[in-house]
Order: sequence, then structure tokens, then C-alpha cells
Amino acid sequence: MIGPMRPVIIAGNWKMQTTPADAGELAATIARRTNEPEVVRVLCPPFVCLAAVRDALAAEPTGRDVAVGAQNVHHELAGAYTGEISAPMLVGLATWTIVGHSERRRDAGETDALINQKVWRARDAGLHVILCVGEQLAEREAGRAAQVVRAQVRGCLDGVKAPAGGDAASGDLRAPWLTIAYEPVWAIGTGRTARGVDAAEMAAAIRRTLGELDFEADGEGVPVLYGGSVTSATIDEFLAEPAIDGALVGGASLKPDEMAGIVARAALTARGRGAQPAS
Ligand code: PEP
Repeated sequence: MIGPMRPVIIAGNWKMQTTPADAGELAATIARRTNEPEVVRVLCPPFVCLAAVRDALAAEPTGRDVAVGAQNVHHELAGAYTGEISAPMLVGLATWTIVGHSERRRDAGETDALINQKVWRARDAGLHVILCVGEQLAEREAGRAAQVVRAQVRGCLDGVKAPAGGDAASGDLRAPWLTIAYEPVWAIGTGRTARGVDAAEMAAAIRRTLGELDFEADGEGVPVLYGGSVTSATIDEFLAEPAIDGALVGGASLKPDEMAGIVARAALTARGRGAQPAS
């Protein structure tokens, strides 16, 4: 990335949905319907659909600028880990990966310390990392949201350094190697969203923590996305906040109409913030 301006990013997390037989067509349709080069678009299908999505985007004239991401990586490089996928295995299939999603924290018992190792592995494999953090409802109601999220950022990134080659070490020059998705757990898949102003406050808390961890320019170059029941009807509230740089979209990312609406709004924001189209 050139200069301090952060890109506007819309990343779709397809979770455990689609098959290799239908994922490629869905990806190509979304690429055609979201052809806005000022927005960094990333689609994260299940592991088994990565190759189909990669190939479909390569064959689709409007698919060239759409990046492919994984939803997770293992914390080790290789070994006796049945059913797992390591970061180096993704090279050639994906250029981005999500780590630390709350569904993996909940279902696979992932801790901040384990996620920290995953961030390293993904970084070393030259992948762009979308690190997810977010508080539970009880923690927000107890006034502890910022404290919880700041502790997650510290735990997941403590000791983590930018790649030796800087942001250029990751394949997609439109974005820095690290992005953080603030996803309040109570908003994921519930139809309930945070308020834009609260999400912006959390983005500021996240960047304050990045500064304490010695990230360059106090984390001002790190994009912070909002995630949690984002749709074309709710995205504007988040894009209106200068501290928020886009969204990690779950359920709505499987619907081309929704993605078209979300990315069209993100493109208006990107142009308003002075983004240049990808070349
Ligand atoms: C997600 O999977 O990260 C997510 C935010 O899901 P949803 O948009 O469905 O709430």
C-alpha cells in the first residue's frame, strides 16, 4: 500500500456453505455484480471450494480484482493434525485468511495465544490476515467491551511483527498485511447490529492498543472492519464512520443482490475518501 490511506474492504465469509460444484458460479456472479475497483473485495469460501472460486474468478473478466481468502489456518506448519489445513498449503489457492473468528473461538476453543500463532503462520506464508475480535453481550452490558477487545488484540498480536518485506510481502498490494474485524459476538448471525458510533469507538480502542504494541503510526495504517449482521440496509451506518474501513459480511455475502448493494455503498465511501481504482 502506498501512503497512509487505508483501503475500503468488503470481505465475505461464506462459513460452511456452498460446494465445489456451485461455489465458482456464485463467486463469478458476485464479481460481476460488484465490479467496483475502488473497493478491495475478498471472498472466503470453505477450504474445499477455494480452487473452484480461484478458477472461476480467473475466468471471469470482472473477477480479476476479487481476492480469495480462507476462513482459518492451523497454528503449525505440518504434522499429525488430522483434518487440518496449514498456512503454506494455501499458497496458490488464497491470498487472504480470516483468523480468530468467534465461531472458532466458541466451537474449537481457540484462545488468543493460539490465534497469535496462527497470525504468525499466515503472515509467514505471505497471506493477508483478517483478525477477528469482539465481545459477548454480557461483557458489553457490563461496560467491559473495550477492555475485552483490547485484551484480545494484545493477546492475538503480542510480539507479532510486520513481515520483513513490509506490506508488499503479502500478495495483494491494495491492502496492508493485517486487517482487524471488530465483530461483537451478539451481532453475528442474529440480525442485530452494533451502532455505528459504538463500532467506531471500538475501532479507536483497537488502534490505541496497536499503538501500545508498537505498530507503526499507532496502527493508523491498519484497516478496521465491522462485522455482525451487515446487509445493504445497514452498511451505511458503519461506512459513515471514518474509523471503519468496510465490513466482514457473513450471511449476506452469499446473496449477490446484497453484495451488490453493500459494495456499491462501499465504493461511494472509497471514492469519497480518495481511493484510486486497482490497476
Ligand atoms: C461473520 O461471519 O463474520 C459475520 C459477521 O456473520 P453475519 O454477517 O452473518 O452476522
